[in-house]
Amino acid sequence: MENRLNLYNTRTRTVEPFVPRVDGKVSMYTCGPTVYHYAHIGNLRSYIMEDVLEKFLRYLGYDVTRVMNITDVGHLSSDADTGEDKMLKGARREKKTVLEIAAFYTDAFFSDCEKLHIKRPDVVEPATHCIDDFIRVISGLLEKGYAYEAGGNVYFDTSKLKEYYVLSNQKEEELAVGVRDSVEEDPNKRNKTDFVLWFTKSKFEDQELKWPSPWGVGYPGWHIECSCISMKHLGGYLDLHCGGVDNIFPHHTNEIAQSEAYLGHEWCRYWFHVLHLVDGAGKMSKSKGDFLTVSLLEEKKYQPLAYRMFCLQSHYRKPLEFSYGVLDNVAQAYAKLTARTRSLPEEGELDQQGIASFKEAFITALGNDLNTSSALTVLYDVLKSDLNGSTKRWLVEDFDRVLSLGLLDEEEAPKADAELEAYVLERIEARKAAKKAKDFALADSIRAELLEKGVAIKDTREGTVWELV
Ligand code: AMP
Ligand code: ZN
Repeated sequence: MENRLNLYNTRTRTVEPFVPRVDGKVSMYTCGPTVYHYAHIGNLRSYIMEDVLEKFLRYLGYDVTRVMNITDVGHLSSDADTGEDKMLKGARREKKTVLEIAAFYTDAFFSDCEKLHIKRPDVVEPATHCIDDFIRVISGLLEKGYAYEAGGNVYFDTSKLKEYYVLSNQKEEELAVGVRDSVEEDPNKRNKTDFVLWFTKSKFEDQELKWPSPWGVGYPGWHIECSCISMKHLGGYLDLHCGGVDNIFPHHTNEIAQSEAYLGHEWCRYWFHVLHLVDGAGKMSKSKGDFLTVSLLEEKKYQPLAYRMFCLQSHYRKPLEFSYGVLDNVAQAYAKLTARTRSLPEEGELDQQGIASFKEAFITALGNDLNTSSALTVLYDVLKSDLNGSTKRWLVEDFDRVLSLGLLDEEEAPKADAELEAYVLERIEARKAAKKAKDFALADSIRAELLEKGVAIKDTREGTVWELV
């Protein structure tokens, strides 16, 4: 197949032509969520951009197989094997079992994905379903001398590798910072960078899920999950591995170490990483108390797809700053855009030349390291062009196979429910009374409060009317 995609590869630190191992076929792996809580919209930025990448590959004609794990065991509070298992923390918080928590937040994750038009990967595999696979690979690593047992745990020996930091140019002295959070010394480790493949002894005895293994009853480390689940479904060669930028070290670095030690050859050619969504205080994270979810955006009357558009407007390799002000602008632009695309008339013959030239521009934009904002510009160019209605409609539908903004869907605008309507009418009455009493400050604050809830009011000769914005 002709190569039309140039993509930044974290492994080589350059933008390279994307050429899968087998012509026309792409094997793609994505680190899935740790299902101890809702996904925040930062997590979902990564999944949205990975979704665009997958859909663009399909658009180009590749036969893509995409696999995602669900982390339901083994991911500790710090990515560097310290702290408590996140799942256990979630279970305790909600007084439920780990498996109940996992089932609930896995469903919540896919429901968010659906709202954001993120396609479900071809294979979704929870880590707890693959214990035998982990044991087999860990046994292989022990046999080959890449792993050792100490203090009841099994560790990967990073000193056995020619090069460990293949993805990041971490320096030893930076590592203390790199490992971040709580850096606790583990006296069992032979080298600072060694990591746990299998835990039997840990600081918390009450780990809920445990399995028998040749090394005692215990549970797997987080990193081994992804290597094994990928190999189980996609074999020993992977074309493309995705994740958020925080996964580069230590998670993906460790995945490469153990996979290549086990396989004896290069495992994955292309590494795709999405930069973070940040708020004023830095990286969005679940440990920071209140965090932004899709449901919260919906409560504030934003359409989830407006958030998808917010993400598409910026490049995945730049941090993206979240603010309601910008989201408001994007939500307005999204409403205008969909009003235009959905009302495009079916009129005229398809203009094949027009189709070919705009398709070419669209592919060139996305082929340039997935430049989604340029792709949106091409969409606007189509709408501004003098092509006939049918041709525009055809192109909008075609581009939406990748953008997935619901551009031709039936009206998706949220209908005001009875409760909201009653509330708005009551506030409008209160504003009227305030104006009558010449309390204009109060009247203005009622208008502002409604606007914050997504309701715009307008005074007309017939009285005050309102609409959702
Ligand atoms: P987790 O559920 O914590 O394992 O994270 C799921 C995915 O979200 C991973 O690919 C992370 O790298 C990614 N991620 C975490 N925080 C952010 C953020 N603030 N912005 C974008 N992606 C993120
Ligand atoms: Zn992973």
